[in-house]
Amino acid sequence: MKKIFLNFALVFLIVSNAQTYKKPLVSPITEKDLKTDMYQMAADQFWGREAGTLDELKVSMWFADKMKATGMKPAGDNGTFFQFFDMYRHQISPQSSVKIGGKNIQLWKDILVQDVTDNQFTAPILYLGKVEPQELASKNISGKVVAIRVSDLNIAKEMTLFERRYPGFIRTKYYKEIEKLGAKGIIFITDAISDKSWVEVVPQMTRGIYGVEGVREKVEVGIPVFWIKQDNENWVKNNPEISLNIQTETYKYPSVNIIGKIEGTDPKLKNEYVLLSGHQDHDGIRHPVNNDTIYNGADDNASTCVALLAIARSYHQQPAKRSILFVIHGAEERGLLGSRWHASHPLVPKENIVAVLNGDMIGRNDNNEAALLGGEAPHKNSEELVKMAFDANNESTQFKFLKAWDLPEHPEYFYFRSDHVPYVRVGIPALFFTSVLHSQYHTPQDESENINFKKLYKMTEWIYRTSWKVANENERPKLIQNFKLER
Ligand SMILES: [Zn+2]
Repeated sequence: MKKIFLNFALVFLIVSNAQTYKKPLVSPITEKDLKTDMYQMAADQFWGREAGTLDELKVSMWFADKMKATGMKPAGDNGTFFQFFDMYRHQISPQSSVKIGGKNIQLWKDILVQDVTDNQFTAPILYLGKVEPQELASKNISGKVVAIRVSDLNIAKEMTLFERRYPGFIRTKYYKEIEKLGAKGIIFITDAISDKSWVEVVPQMTRGIYGVEGVREKVEVGIPVFWIKQDNENWVKNNPEISLNIQTETYKYPSVNIIGKIEGTDPKLKNEYVLLSGHQDHDGIRHPVNNDTIYNGADDNASTCVALLAIARSYHQQPAKRSILFVIHGAEERGLLGSRWHASHPLVPKENIVAVLNGDMIGRNDNNEAALLGGEAPHKNSEELVKMAFDANNESTQFKFLKAWDLPEHPEYFYFRSDHVPYVRVGIPALFFTSVLHSQYHTPQDESENINFKKLYKMTEWIYRTSWKVANENERPKLIQNFKLER
């Protein structure tokens, strides 16, 4: 009885859901091509593809040639594959200096400057030792630079790159309260954890911060935040004077989005676009880990770039009704700058972009698990789009979903950390496909050798099958009414 019922159900399903479009064509997507492209793109020849350097431009030129070879047509500015944009870079100027008790302190060696902000003044230091933020109100800190001994903060230890992020957590813990109470600055004295993180945060702090039109265009105004080592704690004991001249410099640096398309076949729907995206940049050359200094960014995010090349080969052989727009963003690692730029300066009408399927880090971890961010409330911004991704997964890849990564209380805030976000903010249905973090994330060991190519193939197939539905269904996915992100 049960079996008969099932068969009826199946027949009914096939009849009522009769496809009005062709089946997806998966065969042009091959593990072999993914591997070949990956070993080229994540090779040392591109020196870690850092945004705002010749290495990012070099890989972008190389990638445009790869796009062309798949059969894509250019869809950037003026008939090219490129959309150049300016990043703003703000740095501490080398003319800056700090004196404590009349003694010159060497910048980046003996003292770190955490924020890029201009400050010139002389003020007394108030040594507070170990102190909690709620105790500060009684300490009369106004007009002084407070010296605080950091002690092992227990929050967020489960986060990846905990050590590298630790000085940021400490700053967040104290900054607002200290600024509110009228202090002129902060000197943090390291603990065991920040002693270890020192070498990792120096490259971040000396690089400075980046912005793009509308975001961090100017140096922020704020009180200075310094770090000294606990070995040098004596410098700030007995309340000496600090004299500082911290100056900043702002430059414009070029970055670039690489954009290609494969036109749709339907005379009307071909004016609508399914946007598939990834980012080409990574972290360049930084402090050594296991004797390697090149941060190749194989999983992050050559994985999605090569997946999109594979998907393009399929669309070239069998185009869909709608057009496919392939956007490889620049400067993602510097704050989603390429996607912010493109979301506000798209080269096709914004209302013609029916959905964004973004991938970031899709080539690691268990073959049978993956995450779909934007798959659950409050991040889900289109019921229909999420259903298409679920259906595509049921058809073939059968991933078990790592749903915790999409929860607002997840400690990594992972949903907010890739290029789909600027599109979501301008009201386009969007999803983020990922195989999530791993222990080699943002280290020189994120290399081609460590990619799980079976997994990368499956993720590519899943994104492709999802995009095939979006590109062929009669109705485009709708936005959820009153959708609002929690941050
Ligand atoms: Zn990434």
